[in-house]
Amino acid sequence: MKKHNFSAGPSILPREVIEKTAQAVLDFNESGLSILEISHRSKGFEAVIAEARDLFKELLNIPEGYSVLFLGGGASMQFCMIPFNFFENKAAYLNTGVWANKAMKEAKGFGEVVEVASSKEAVYNYIPKGYTIPSDADYFHITTNNTIYGTEILTDMDSPVPLIADMSSDIFSRPLDVSKYSMIYGGAQKNLAPAGVTFVIVKDEMLGKVSRYIPTMLNYKTHIADGSMFNTPPVLPIYSALETLRWLKANGGLVEMEKRNIAKAELLYNAIDNSKMFVGTANKEDRSRMNVCFVMKPEYKELEASFLKFATEAGMDGIKGHRSVGGFRASIYNAMPIESVQALIDCMHEFEKQN
Ligand SMILES: *Cc1c(COP(=O)(O)O)cnc(C)c1O
Repeated sequence: MKKHNFSAGPSILPREVIEKTAQAVLDFNESGLSILEISHRSKGFEAVIAEARDLFKELLNIPEGYSVLFLGGGASMQFCMIPFNFFENKAAYLNTGVWANKAMKEAKGFGEVVEVASSKEAVYNYIPKGYTIPSDADYFHITTNNTIYGTEILTDMDSPVPLIADMSSDIFSRPLDVSKYSMIYGGAQKNLAPAGVTFVIVKDEMLGKVSRYIPTMLNYKTHIADGSMFNTPPVLPIYSALETLRWLKANGGLVEMEKRNIAKAELLYNAIDNSKMFVGTANKEDRSRMNVCFVMKPEYKELEASFLKFATEAGMDGIKGHRSVGGFRASIYNAMPIESVQALIDCMHEFEKQN
């Protein structure tokens, strides 16, 4: 039976990326060696990381004056690296969910943290608006896509202070105006590569301004100086990331990705909005194009477990919602074909007919 992978993360990758990664594990560039057993300082791997860096710059149209890094530690490591490198007196955070909170928690160890707004009281089902960002903050931190709650900030906002964005789950889903951000980062395992590598895009002029000692491994300058090779980088996930970046380029880049992502999200949200049984959980104007969260209407609530079983038996994998929202979550990242979204909708219709 065909499986449709709606997992939130690690999540679906283009089949081609998985096959090319498998090939590189068996025989990297017809070298007779596996990518798993060659030096990260070999010519072959140097070319991989250089091309990955170049494709980041090309696909995202990154202006001069920014560095692209491939690090370990996950997005979660960035929650502390950010304050280590940028926090002097005060930092501002937008509280849009679990990941935003985890980022904020680390910053609190460094000084005054201003939570400019929060949607906690509504289980984070919307993106707060109309807040004021303190003009004396060292930076303002946002989470552009809230993977758990299915809300997303789809515009590149203006900020009076340096803007830092966790884009773990929506990087490469649309064209960005990188010049609006001082830093963009994320774990690769949602929309780019297998787990193990974290990407960081950082504006060089932001660095070297804090007065504290920054541990060597946590200092962005270390990794910029050594081209992400200060220590052994996560070689295999970087290789897969390169294959995804090549795939993105060959498939029309981010303009085309955005078009596809809008089409997929509209198809699924329309089906949910027109359903007698299902209802979306996120505020309509803040709906994520990556993670579609929905539950059963109160009168059908007791059917949730049986729909999950029904859908799973029909090949829909990973649609169980996060425990804090309940119901269902269909993650429809770049690699998800629209045919799989339609398969989920057909499955929902069939279940409605039978019940
Ligand atoms: C998954 C996720 C994280 C955590 O990433 P790790 O690489 O596991 O640390 C952080 N932020 C967002 C928005 C996520 O979706």
